[in-house]
Amino acid sequence: MNRPRLAIAGLTACSGCQLTLMNCEEELPLIAGKFAIDYFPMGESIAEPEGLYDAAIVEGAVSTPEDHALLFKLRNTSRLLVAFGTCALFGGVAAMNNASADRAEMLARVYGRSASEISSFQPGPFEKFVSVDFAITGCPPEKPDLLALLGALLAGTLPPAPCYPVCTECRSRENLCLLLERNQFCLGPVIQGGCNARCPATGIACEGCRGPVREANVAQELELLLERNFGRDEIERRLSRFTPEWNYGQRR
Ligand code: SF4
Ligand code: SF4
Repeated sequence: MNRPRLAIAGLTACSGCQLTLMNCEEELPLIAGKFAIDYFPMGESIAEPEGLYDAAIVEGAVSTPEDHALLFKLRNTSRLLVAFGTCALFGGVAAMNNASADRAEMLARVYGRSASEISSFQPGPFEKFVSVDFAITGCPPEKPDLLALLGALLAGTLPPAPCYPVCTECRSRENLCLLLERNQFCLGPVIQGGCNARCPATGIACEGCRGPVREANVAQELELLLERNFGRDEIERRLSRFTPEWNYGQRR
């Protein structure tokens, strides 16, 4: 059987999502034997994607003409396009200030007089530009989610998409509830689980890095936070931090 051809790439991002693959140290020899990883600039020095891929696993938000061109090229040459990580799926950190700040002013502040030479646009998730076949959320994604995808690709299918909030895992770990018992600003009830409630398990409230869970009960979360005297502006700012275009007034 031919090994499935993979492209692993990054757009505007910190490369942390691609590092999830590099961090699969024990599994890497097996992965390298089962797949032909034929385009992976972070791991090898191949300049351009060539030929057709069975799957392209791509991180990052789309914010430059180069991002746009690479995303279109990989979409057009790959049977499956996987949005890998919160930035690819929701815009994430790269898009954090989309609604609240003036882009020209931000560029001037960061790049000074060279700002006019920066060719970029407002960062957005893949779905604004192309169709996406599968998504793995996370900032960065969890290793088991990537391994589940790779295993499913070998079987010619896709893994089930989880749909439960961070609270499910948090409560099953018998953590203290930071929202109800400590009155802290925790977004766990409306955020997609799968991280094993990493932050609340160490006493840190969930900031929502995995993006919204499907059918999140935002009204209830809002009520709980308002009851604890958090202001509406702060609530909206933090709900939007990793998912700037989350229309949390509507069910997804
Ligand atoms: S600490 Fe946060 S994530 Fe854990 S149960 Fe409470 S609200 Fe949910
Ligand atoms: S608990 Fe929340 S902030 Fe922490 S990793 Fe999970 S989703 Fe991200």
